[in-house]
Amino acid sequence: MPDYSFAPPVQPDLPITGSELRYPVRRIFCVGRNYADHVAEMGGDAGRDAPIYFTKSAHTLLQSGQDMPYPPGTDDLHHEIELVVAIGGTATAIDRADAASVIWGYGVGLDMTRRDLQNVAKDAGQPWDTSKDFDAAAIIAALTPADQVQLSDASIRLAVNDTTRQESPLASMVWSVPDIVANLSTLYTLYPGDLIMTGTPAGVSAVVRGDVLVGTVDGLDPVQTRIV
Ligand code: MN
Repeated sequence: MPDYSFAPPVQPDLPITGSELRYPVRRIFCVGRNYADHVAEMGGDAGRDAPIYFTKSAHTLLQSGQDMPYPPGTDDLHHEIELVVAIGGTATAIDRADAASVIWGYGVGLDMTRRDLQNVAKDAGQPWDTSKDFDAAAIIAALTPADQVQLSDASIRLAVNDTTRQESPLASMVWSVPDIVANLSTLYTLYPGDLIMTGTPAGVSAVVRGDVLVGTVDGLDPVQTRIV
């Protein structure tokens, strides 16, 4: 190991259901506008030739069950509940039909968003980094290996203080998981440790300090946090 001038960052990781092992996180890709009802509520256009992407640093990861400090620079922090795909192989421009071979597993995640900053960025044609890629902005539950869950009929939902705010079948995604993995692998070589947050259904809304968020996908560990 080289002699670093200070201790290197801790490797971000996630728990694995039914295992003592951890999943080391490399990159976090996110898909935007992937449920038609959410595209409509955001005033966007659903007709596109390919998914749109943005990223969050792996160091924005917050473990499910931990409190999320209300972030600075915003008065409009929003929840977005999402299915998370965990990559376990190397993929460059793979076919849709081969996507499953590089999917290690799945999880439930919250793409926390400073909506006011995102709206300013959208209006000005500026990047989304400050609205999406900030401390504790990716909250993800324990991952489940792909062979231990069947998601074809599963639904995704989010409750805030026991009131359902978002709910949709996963089948309502504009771009399916194989579509996304295949397309993303034409833009990046995917490696084990890469996560993909696959977009959120309608019902996004603001949260305030004290709110308790619980997100679920049938068959997966729930994601949970409290805003403090
Ligand atoms: Mn999102």
